[in-house]
Amino acid sequence: MNVSIQFWGTSDAQGVPRMLCNCHVCSSEEKSNVRTRPSMLVEYGDDQILIDLSPDFRQQFFAFANKRVPDTVLFTHAHHDHIGGLGDFADLASWNQKKVNMVSPEDIIETILTRYPYLARRNGLHFQKEDTWQIGNLRIGFHRVNHGANGYSYGIRFETDTLRFAYVSDAINLTDAEWLPFFELDCLILGTSYWREDAPMSRRSVYSVEEVLPILEKLKPSVVYLTHLSHDIDHEQKESLLPKHVRFAYDGLLIALQSIESL
Ligand SMILES: [Zn+2]
Ligand SMILES: [Zn+2]
Repeated sequence: MNVSIQFWGTSDAQGVPRMLCNCHVCSSEEKSNVRTRPSMLVEYGDDQILIDLSPDFRQQFFAFANKRVPDTVLFTHAHHDHIGGLGDFADLASWNQKKVNMVSPEDIIETILTRYPYLARRNGLHFQKEDTWQIGNLRIGFHRVNHGANGYSYGIRFETDTLRFAYVSDAINLTDAEWLPFFELDCLILGTSYWREDAPMSRRSVYSVEEVLPILEKLKPSVVYLTHLSHDIDHEQKESLLPKHVRFAYDGLLIALQSIESL
């Protein structure tokens, strides 16, 4: 079975370039330094599963979707940078008579429907309050993780008989118990907004690159992609400082997971 992932958006909440910022990353014309808000497509055979609906969903759809509406949407949490494209997605699905399962644990779906009450009964959208989900032999699990000053979010773990990978975009200061589902994966996608962040922990909400490197030594994933990147990350400059199996994601990056050993 062909399994691949494609990053549709790899920025933090503000996007890169940031509005009104003249730093060298925000002024960069390098494609890898231009980032839309976070979202990632998982392709499992013929099924397309989109993680989160970025406020930049419409732009990402034109760039990457190949005129196809995803079959399933999974939500990590209900912050604007992860659900702001829901209105555009709802119109796209209903105008094209597409049936889409919109899946996340009960608390997240409740919050989404409180924000968008007019979408609760929208044709084509099937909101599913579930902690686990299955598509063919692909088993999907939502695991609650600490999101620091911003509350909590869910890491999403995917498993087939031969492959295990996970997407944990908005997390910080996880306990050992919270890390448990994310050990020894074939591929781990992890959010790191800054290379190093000196703000007091009480105001922080996403790991820095410096903080995750020692954690990765314990988790032992085969390959890691860092996403949810702010304007602190100059892709080319900073990637050369990473261990070989850890890479920065960029918008449009497509990875065939079943052939990951060839990376
Ligand atoms: Zn976020
Ligand atoms: Zn968040």
